[in-house]
Amino acid sequence: MGAGLQDGKRDQSLPQTGRSLIEWIAGKGEVGGTGSGSQTWGHGDPMHRLSPIDQRPLAVVRSASTQDYRETLNQAVTAFKVWRMVPAPRRGEVVRQIGEVLRRNKKELAEIISLEVGKIQAEAEGEVQEMIDMADFAVGLSRMLYGVTMPSERPGHRMYEQWHPLGPVGVITAFNFPVAVWSWNAFIALVCGDTVIWKPSSKAALSAVAAMSLIWPVLKENDLPDGILNLVAGPGPSIGEAMIQDRRIPLISATGSVRMGRHVAAAVASRVGRTLLELGGNNAVVVCPSADLELAVKAIVFGAIGTAGQRCTTIRRVLVHAELFDTFCTRLVRSYREIRIGNPLNVGVHMGPLIDAEAVSTMQIALKQLRDQGGKVIYGGQALAGGIFDTGTYVTPCIAEARPDMPIVHVETFAPILYVIRFRTLEEAVAHLNAVSQGLSSAIFTNDMLEAEAFLSASGSDCGIANVNIGTSGAEIGGAFGGEKDTGGGREAGSDAWRAYMRRQTVTVNWSRKMPLAQGIELKLA
Ligand code: NAD
Repeated sequence: MGAGLQDGKRDQSLPQTGRSLIEWIAGKGEVGGTGSGSQTWGHGDPMHRLSPIDQRPLAVVRSASTQDYRETLNQAVTAFKVWRMVPAPRRGEVVRQIGEVLRRNKKELAEIISLEVGKIQAEAEGEVQEMIDMADFAVGLSRMLYGVTMPSERPGHRMYEQWHPLGPVGVITAFNFPVAVWSWNAFIALVCGDTVIWKPSSKAALSAVAAMSLIWPVLKENDLPDGILNLVAGPGPSIGEAMIQDRRIPLISATGSVRMGRHVAAAVASRVGRTLLELGGNNAVVVCPSADLELAVKAIVFGAIGTAGQRCTTIRRVLVHAELFDTFCTRLVRSYREIRIGNPLNVGVHMGPLIDAEAVSTMQIALKQLRDQGGKVIYGGQALAGGIFDTGTYVTPCIAEARPDMPIVHVETFAPILYVIRFRTLEEAVAHLNAVSQGLSSAIFTNDMLEAEAFLSASGSDCGIANVNIGTSGAEIGGAFGGEKDTGGGREAGSDAWRAYMRRQTVTVNWSRKMPLAQGIELKLA
């Protein structure tokens, strides 16, 4: 069953249940990558989505053209005028219903994610669960968009802060979390009263279309206008660029590489817009002599090979005390030997493919640089071939011995390479941890309370996330998520991250019938 989109004409037949989405994909349909609520369309180039699992064609997503983009933005601007006046708890109720739809279709949406980006099923389902958790969080938040009141220095005056919807919010996402990162932004933006324009990665456009086709009917059922949740799938240099230059979008939330983030930051700043940046990481774990090694190895294996090393929070460096180094490496290699690589849809597989053959070649180049710079591969790192592996997208995860001063160790290679590095004192380990330009996630394994507290102190880890006795990845949605330095400084998801999606207004009301000025200034008029 194809969706029947031809020459960019409007398509009414987008599947609206998880099961029909799966059937639709099996029919290799073509669908528009542009939409505002009830239809999809697209006049840009076709994006042929092939599965990295076996290179099977999944579907064709027709990119948004710049005209499609303009039309969609107009809808988002118009719909904002309606949505901002809907009471926040009522907006929360709509998000609650979106969460229910995701609950009902969790397995099917997860399957599409696995097919398109190669995640193992457990992680793909975890990604949809994250969306559901975000919906639940946002529902509660819709009754808690608190402003504060403060005493005025003037008699008969009241002062307070209130939070208003900001406007249409642009959300640019990376391929590795095709839908969850959008939900971190979108569900919060929705309860804050904003409309959302989503530009997904072209490598994950089908998952975005699938998510929206499940979610748009909820807005219709609530008699809401088109334009509240909008999709503009297409290339960064055209569609992404149009968004970041657009003065009608007061906030651009961009997730992706540091290179992309630098460009987005400069472009949006030049029009004095706001950015929320979630960029690359180069995350490290410190393993101290008192650590529970079983625990540490378990956490490090998941953190390093989860999503085939393609998480922003992937563990890329392990700093191991010299005393433990050999024992630690032996145990880690033993665990790596048990990793099953293969079709991520099969139960029991731990690691699927990388996103494409280019990612495999980037990994091979990084390993050559490692050797040239004096490092040593301890385990794995091969590009696999034969059978399903002939896609050129599968590798064995790699453990490499490295020194902290090697240039390659400072680079985020988006692949399962784990650099193991020795240290002798905790101060030295923290200095290595903080020496890279990225600052997303970090962890320490220790049973020594003093070491743990030193790691968490102002002179410890400089990352946005610092954990004790758990790995660097798999963050819960309740906390604000994000990182420092080149990671961009943005915070998304829980805690008070919602403030970025609203405008703050400080209000002073004079109910005194006099006109005292602040700071005791008196204006003597004749
Ligand atoms: P990428 O930078 O190649 O692309 C990210 C997005 O930016 C895509 O949608 C792309 O089309 C868009 N883009 C590219 N050029 C643009 C432009 N000129 N204007 C506007 N948009 C543009 O990243 P990727 O390969 O998809 O993802 C991997 C990277 O993302 C890694 O560095 C990873 O660490 C990072 N990431 C960070 C987080 C986080 O929360 N910190 C989460 C996920 C991924």
